[in-house]
Amino acid sequence: MAEKGLIFMATEINIPKHESRFFLFLFLLFGMFSNVAGQNWSSGGVLSEYQKSFDIHYYSLNLKIDPDNKFLEGFTDVHVYGLVDDASVIELDLVRNYQVTNVYENGVPAQFSHEEDKLFVFLTNEISKDEKVQLRVEYSGHPPVAVRPPWEGGFNWSVDSEGNHWVGVSCQLEGAKIWFPAKDHPVSRADSVSLNITVPKPYKVASNGLLQERTVRDSDWHTWHWKTRYPIHNYNVSINIGLFETVEDKYLAEDGTVVPVIFYVLPQDKHRAGELLEITIQKLKQMRVYYGEYGFTSEKFGLVQTDYLGMEHQTINSYGNDFRYTVIDGKAYDWLLLHELIHEWWGNLITVSDWADFWIHEGITTYTDALFLWDYFSEETYHAKIAEYKGFIRNHQPIIPGENVTSAEVYNHDVYYKGAYFMHTLSFVMGRGTFMNLLRAFALQNRYQYTSTEELRSFFETYSGIGLKGLFDLYLYSTELPELLVEENSDGKFAVSIPNIDFNLSVEILTSNGKSIHKIGPEPTVIESETNPEVDPGNWYLWRHTFE
Ligand SMILES: [Zn+2]
Repeated sequence: MAEKGLIFMATEINIPKHESRFFLFLFLLFGMFSNVAGQNWSSGGVLSEYQKSFDIHYYSLNLKIDPDNKFLEGFTDVHVYGLVDDASVIELDLVRNYQVTNVYENGVPAQFSHEEDKLFVFLTNEISKDEKVQLRVEYSGHPPVAVRPPWEGGFNWSVDSEGNHWVGVSCQLEGAKIWFPAKDHPVSRADSVSLNITVPKPYKVASNGLLQERTVRDSDWHTWHWKTRYPIHNYNVSINIGLFETVEDKYLAEDGTVVPVIFYVLPQDKHRAGELLEITIQKLKQMRVYYGEYGFTSEKFGLVQTDYLGMEHQTINSYGNDFRYTVIDGKAYDWLLLHELIHEWWGNLITVSDWADFWIHEGITTYTDALFLWDYFSEETYHAKIAEYKGFIRNHQPIIPGENVTSAEVYNHDVYYKGAYFMHTLSFVMGRGTFMNLLRAFALQNRYQYTSTEELRSFFETYSGIGLKGLFDLYLYSTELPELLVEENSDGKFAVSIPNIDFNLSVEILTSNGKSIHKIGPEPTVIESETNPEVDPGNWYLWRHTFE
């Protein structure tokens, strides 16, 4: 998802400074209240013994959504398989907002208990490893209302400018338990999901994967049948309800597959859709150069207009940037669209199983935002963006605060900006060419897979031949920053060292003789210069002195 700070980057382009400050004030004020109102749900963390005993391969959501009453009712089928030989309790997550009326185990009523945000199903017959069981959970209730979507998500019961319902669902940090029973952890991705969503006529539903059919229930209600056959994170499962129109274009994949690029747009903005689709396709092509083919070519690349900023919902990216393009040198791009689209690679196609590695989703995506600017505009634009990121870094806790952490424990500015800056640093340490080649190879190798920080480090080290543990430990696992010491000895000699690290950094130094690269570590390196040497003039590292 887009980071909150990005909003200011965008608004500062168009809004006079005093107004920008006013928005910031409103934002902070709203944030304070929303923390009080929110339930503070999160996902991930340490799996319970019960949740270690099974996994899920399929969800089928069969829900009637009544926007007038902000009410949801129906059932979700959860297809479970055993990870051990004696799984007897299926522990699902489903928030307390719902009343669960029945649970069935392979069609037979089952014992269950729904307390607070947990739904325990007590199986009549325990399942062994790889054995499957089909659960059906019937429930109804008022879904949690989004407080500040997408950062405090839930159901966003909005209306468009004509007063028609305009509903969206976002729950990256809270998890899917806010609307369907799930094993609510990034380690658990279904291999496919069906969504059969009933809404009042004439509203439409836009969702993940492909529209299978629309069936009419009665004179007032109809059902939209969607299905995705790709592995998908729970939080990426989403629905949107509105009087959408569809505007369609085509993206040609390298293997000749013609991929529909579909925008579900409100009628009042339909005339603006074509231009957005054009820049969408151009971005898809650029990402293919960086990281390989788009991962969901047998379905679609989807965009849906939302009344919240954005979210990388797989094959149905939420777009709420209101067509506010940034124009540089006569060329337009949409930073929000770009960010969510990159997540189709980093987040959706290449994904993490522990929120400890959240930065791989957000940091690499944010880095790629800047990379795109380099290729689309100029190297200077890239460096200006990276410098902007530095201003957002807080460094209050390590980007990776530990293992098995929840979304709430890890999510903050730094997974975006310090993560992005770290990639910027790596590109210097490894050399831009090697770095880009290996990042692309890593992306290709990990399509549809889980990955982790340690896998990324190991991959980079193996194929670049450069030891990176010190760098990863420093910038990802600690809040320590290298402390630069430059001491003038005599006769134009300077001793340069970094006393607070126990390895060497490759650092560019500008002296009276020009630029050269030196290995600088805890022991002083002597540099000759007739002028004061400038260390790291290209700003490839975060230093303690430039940061504080
Ligand atoms: Zn994001």
